[in-house]
Amino acid sequence: MALSNAYLKDVFETVSKRNCGEKEFLQAVSEVLESLEPVIEKRPDLVEAGVIDRIVEPERVIIFRVPWVDDNGKVQVNRGFRVQFNSAIGPYKGGLRLHPSVCASVIKFLGFEQIFKNSLTGLPMGGGKGGSDFDPKGKSDMEIMRFCQSFMTELSKHIGADTDVPAGDIGVGAREIGYLFGQYKRLRNEFVGVLTGKGLTYGGSLARKEATGYGLCYFTSEMLSCMANTSFEGKTVVVSGSGNVAIYATEKATELGAKVVALSDSNGYIYDPNGIQLDIVKDIKEVKRGRIKEYVDRVPGSTYTEGCKGIWTIKCDIALPCATQNEIDKESAEALVANGVMCVSEGANMPSTPEAIETFQKAGILFGPAKAANAGGVATSGLEMSQNSERLSWTFEEVDAKLKGIMINIFHNAYNAANEYSQAGNLVAGANIAGFLKIAEAMKAQGVC
Ligand code: NDP
Repeated sequence: MALSNAYLKDVFETVSKRNCGEKEFLQAVSEVLESLEPVIEKRPDLVEAGVIDRIVEPERVIIFRVPWVDDNGKVQVNRGFRVQFNSAIGPYKGGLRLHPSVCASVIKFLGFEQIFKNSLTGLPMGGGKGGSDFDPKGKSDMEIMRFCQSFMTELSKHIGADTDVPAGDIGVGAREIGYLFGQYKRLRNEFVGVLTGKGLTYGGSLARKEATGYGLCYFTSEMLSCMANTSFEGKTVVVSGSGNVAIYATEKATELGAKVVALSDSNGYIYDPNGIQLDIVKDIKEVKRGRIKEYVDRVPGSTYTEGCKGIWTIKCDIALPCATQNEIDKESAEALVANGVMCVSEGANMPSTPEAIETFQKAGILFGPAKAANAGGVATSGLEMSQNSERLSWTFEEVDAKLKGIMINIFHNAYNAANEYSQAGNLVAGANIAGFLKIAEAMKAQGVC
């Protein structure tokens, strides 16, 4: 890595030793530390208070066994995680991911990113993340329910409406949140806002489902307008994934005048030169829980290609990676640049490798980093917590307007921090610095803890 400050190098060495081989976590830490070099020079008081030494170490890591019984009566065992990373500015907040790739490194990287993202929203939320290596694909509803009940039986000992408030992420949508909430309520005999992303009949917020995708587009619109005097209008857009974030990013980008021509899943991607018909995608993915390739059976003129990486070879003006970490490597970034992409904005967490980011930045492409661009989901989760505390429900329009305001603010905070620390136009640095400073002040004020 390209750290030049001796103190930061030392911090990174310690983190590397303590978290040996955890490549996703080390990648996330190294990006943030690089961005903090100019801050360290201006703020020796934060070094003295040991803020950076402390921020890279989770406050608590909980790892637990999740035993459950499948439909054949066979006992299955998965591993559960909750990383409570930082509570300096509020209760831990961050999603639960159910995917076979989940391990300590993935959950720690997500929890670490979440600290800065939550700080950027301006809402009082600390950073955390959790999940399991359970694969929900192909499981029956009853298997999902039994897994979720077992997972919550242990997790309930560590969370609470004022302690730690999990939400959804990959593999965790309304169905899973419902089962998790039901089990928490049963175990604790408490009806409280301990999870967000809840159903609308039991304390969920309107616009939470749409929030990450919509927020990504609000952030990207502001970036296009302020940094390139343009908009989504008339642009061709490629979106990866076809889950919650991808679907609602497609919906809002289309509403803003763009044509989205591609979507993917972990098996392959579809291309529709006439613009994706989202009602068909929603039916396949949200109603039938099917695969994206089923789209081509229903839409003449569209094509399906096996393998998801090829999606980045499609010519587009704007790319919105909304699937998973490290899905755009250097080669894919170079293909996007060669095809004339003018903006890349991240809906997924850490979807671009460091080499891909460098490729975009060198080519002068507008780049919206995940922790700023996809913060709309957690911001709206924060709004769900406020509604639960007030025992009130706001209208869709009220929540959407607040979300838009938050995303515009996040863009300007990141943009201004980049300018202030001599990194004009570098929103990666700007988002890291702006997110960090608020946490750092809180940690310093609260003493060594
Ligand atoms: P979903 O589970 O709803 O969807 C994930 C999508 O990504 C699926 O279409 C999945 O396909 C696809 N995918 C997974 N792995 C790969 C891969 N290796 N290559 C291509 N496609 C892949 O998750 P979300 O939409 O909620 O989350 C997507 C990303 O956005 C994640 O990085 C998440 O952390 C991030 N995010 C989500 C937020 C939210 O509010 N939901 C908030 C902020 C960030 P398949 O079905 O084949 O697995």
